[in-house]
Amino acid sequence: VIGEIEACRHQLRELSLKIHSSPELGFQEVKAAAWLTQYLEENGFSIERGICELPTAFRGSYGQGKPAIAILAEYDALPELGHACGHNLIAGCAVGAAVASKPAIDRFGGSILVIGTPAEELYGGKGIMAERGAFDKVDMAMMVHPGVHDTATTQALACVGLEVEFFGKAAHAATRPEAGINALEAMLQSFAAMNSLRQHIEDKARIHGIITDGGEAANIVPAHSAGNFLVRAEDDTYLDELKEKVINCFIGAA
Ligand SMILES: [Zn+2]
Repeated sequence: VIGEIEACRHQLRELSLKIHSSPELGFQEVKAAAWLTQYLEENGFSIERGICELPTAFRGSYGQGKPAIAILAEYDALPELGHACGHNLIAGCAVGAAVASKPAIDRFGGSILVIGTPAEELYGGKGIMAERGAFDKVDMAMMVHPGVHDTATTQALACVGLEVEFFGKAAHAATRPEAGINALEAMLQSFAAMNSLRQHIEDKARIHGIITDGGEAANIVPAHSAGNFLVRAEDDTYLDELKEKVINCFIGAA
């Protein structure tokens, strides 16, 4: 397998750099999906494009029957930052590993799949694809993700997203401030409450978020504020518990 990878090292590097230099956001990875499927096709894989009703998802397969081993490819970029998370590398590694596994499939049987999972950064493409049956006939799935240390296995955190809005009452901030109900202040109080909570949460748990609407103008008391938050924990049980506590921060601030 190592010999096979060495043989296509140059092509894989080019492919990965090409995706890096053309970053595409989640569900818009048209070029990346085309390049990856083309590479797999040129290397003898049969390709299904747009699986699970997602235009930039795909499945490449080589060999037949069981065990069906899937290698997952991600290839979406982050807004503003491009491929800061290295999904171009994930894509290159996935197709490289799959192509290099062909001699093993020829010898031992079974099938090797590359499942292209779009929109991992912001929407969690794999979750949608799992619900739509993409992994039903897969015996084993694996992928790599670039990081700061080498490890064979990793534990991902359970994660839940919260979209929060506060509704207040607009008023002129200088002439009639007493008539306003400030929706931005409620959002800021929520951040203060979450920061106080943070001191008392389990080690690996995470709470993070951004304000997506903080008002229209400095001289208008904001009638509306909004934010997106992510709560993460080591397991679902603690995630549920922590989510309740975070929601209480918002309720308290309101
Ligand atoms: Zn990533």
